[in-house]
Amino acid sequence: MPRPLQALIDLSALEHNLSVVRHHAPRSRVMAVIKADAYGHGLLRAAEALANADGFAMLELDAAVRLREAGYRHTILLLEGFFDMEELAWIEQYRLSTVIHNREQIAMLSACRLPGRLDVFLKLNTGMHRLGFSLQQFSAAVEALRSHPAVGQITLMTHFACADESQQRESVFSQVERFNSAGKGWRLPRSLANSAAVLRYPETHADWVRPGIMLYGASPLAGTSAAELDLRPAMTVSSKIIAVQILKPGEGVGYGHTFRPGNPMKVGVVAGGYADGYPRHAPTGTPVLVNGRRTRVVGRVSMDMLHVDLSEIQDAGVGSPVVLWGRGMPVDEVAQAAGTVAYELMCALAPRMQKVT
Ligand SMILES: *Cc1c(COP(=O)(O)O)cnc(C)c1O
Repeated sequence: MPRPLQALIDLSALEHNLSVVRHHAPRSRVMAVIKADAYGHGLLRAAEALANADGFAMLELDAAVRLREAGYRHTILLLEGFFDMEELAWIEQYRLSTVIHNREQIAMLSACRLPGRLDVFLKLNTGMHRLGFSLQQFSAAVEALRSHPAVGQITLMTHFACADESQQRESVFSQVERFNSAGKGWRLPRSLANSAAVLRYPETHADWVRPGIMLYGASPLAGTSAAELDLRPAMTVSSKIIAVQILKPGEGVGYGHTFRPGNPMKVGVVAGGYADGYPRHAPTGTPVLVNGRRTRVVGRVSMDMLHVDLSEIQDAGVGSPVVLWGRGMPVDEVAQAAGTVAYELMCALAPRMQKVT
């Protein structure tokens, strides 16, 4: 028998979550964000389930090429653009679209003398202060691209810093305002919204929405569960109890003995640890499902195993099924307990984790 740990990828959940995006943004084209190996779900598998999207966005050139070679004719957008001139030739050859976010990229484009034209997404920094031209540089950048022989369609783009926080509406509106004022006068398609903005700010939907996390069934909105948003978990990480220990009062569990029950306690050992992608910093109390019932992680997570409290699940024993996150155990709750976000848990699945569909 193989080690009982696996990540089940639910393709129908991906499809369903895409339909939720369409429901919220019926007039926009959908660029499904599948960076980081589709947030850990597997690039080609996720692309197949999301084939009804109008485009795919990622930032790894090799992944974009693989997608094109797999036969997808969608718009495929590179979210960080290109890093050197050699990549530009690939982008042109594979008919990829690219973000352009700085002057160095425009200079490379000019120096490269490509035989064909590229579709570009010109990125404006409206307040995230990560990628994008400043408001002052923006018109010069649009002008440079509009007259550029190697540029085809230009789409204007920006990214929100705080769309997930309900208290931060003003931050979103001020970014929208800056974007609109910088883009005024150009009749060019636009793209602003990530998942949070798809759900919370219909006025930002424009021509292309760029959802990521909601496609995978985690909630992009702080304080709202995925279930409340009708999103279904696309990844379920499950395992089994492989050993049971009965602790006497005061005996410690695992490395460092960071957990010592005051009363006798039945504890299960689960196959799955930080070398599989379960967060080592998940503290005692992090929720977990055993035999379909909620309990908690106890003690320190080890490289290959973790401990769970079975004091309330007396019928559990070796072989009992465990869900670390996914169906029945929202990834957002596990992430919150571990002081991180669902994005990180999904992306951090280790290569040795077996993925099945
Ligand atoms: C990752 C990313 C997205 C998707 O964000 P989610 O919060 O996962 O919806 C959209 N746009 C850009 C530029 C990104 O980098």
